[in-house]
Amino acid sequence: MSEFKNKSVLVLGGSRGIGASIVRRFVADGATVTFTYNGSQAAAEQLAAETGSTAVLTDSADRDAVIERVRQSGPLDVLVVNAGYAIFGDALDQDPDEIDKLFRVNVHAPYHASVEAARQMGEGGRIIVIGSVNGDRMPIPGMASYALTKSALQGMARGLARDLGPRGITINVVQPGPIDTDANPENGPMKDLMHSFMAIKRHGRPEEVAAMVAWLAGPEAGFVTGAMHTIDGAFGA
Ligand code: NDP
Repeated sequence: MSEFKNKSVLVLGGSRGIGASIVRRFVADGATVTFTYNGSQAAAEQLAAETGSTAVLTDSADRDAVIERVRQSGPLDVLVVNAGYAIFGDALDQDPDEIDKLFRVNVHAPYHASVEAARQMGEGGRIIVIGSVNGDRMPIPGMASYALTKSALQGMARGLARDLGPRGITINVVQPGPIDTDANPENGPMKDLMHSFMAIKRHGRPEEVAAMVAWLAGPEAGFVTGAMHTIDGAFGA
């Protein structure tokens, strides 16, 4: 496939899981792909070698490093912000520094990366941020900080769509439900509880999320912006 031939794609957080599938998908579709990693150097190098993409070390908790990475990437056709994680446990027991770091990775980095990318993007530019169905529905305790970050992305996309639409750039949020990755393995202890909330009682696959990202990045999605796109087996329904 060559839908993204000659297109420049940057994936923030591409070394593992959903991000790695997004990297593979864009490479398969002909794009020139750069992705960032933080902790998983070996996985990043292996993925880069396998796919011909470029891996670069950038900690999404470091705002200025993220901005610099996006700036150095030049005029992008597609920015995907995937890097993110959750902190579990009673909100009353959590270290505020750890919570602030979560906010830097899950909220500050997507905002600053999106704005920086838009400075150089041309007409037809696409920004896609990986949120979560937990931005809409948080049915269990212990994940308020995570839900907060994913809801924040909704406001960001709605607002930036207004700023970027006149520049010919779209911005959308993809909201997965449970997806089988290191962060949420299908065979983990939460499986039965999570599937009890769902109409399709299985975890999604990273490739299914990557397919939605690819559609949003492609030519058929030029009228789609400021919107949330949930892929969750009806977890949030
Ligand atoms: P994984 O833990 O499997 O992978 C996380 C990816 O993000 C890795 O490539 C990791 O890179 C990168 N990352 C994390 N922190 C940083 C950082 N500080 N700087 C740079 N990169 C970073 O998670 P998933 O693939 O499951 O999740 C990906 C996204 O999807 C997240 O935003 C998550 O919130 C969201 N999501 C996931 C769901 C699921 O069920 N799996 C459901 C809903 C949303 P490295 O290892 O190199 O640090």
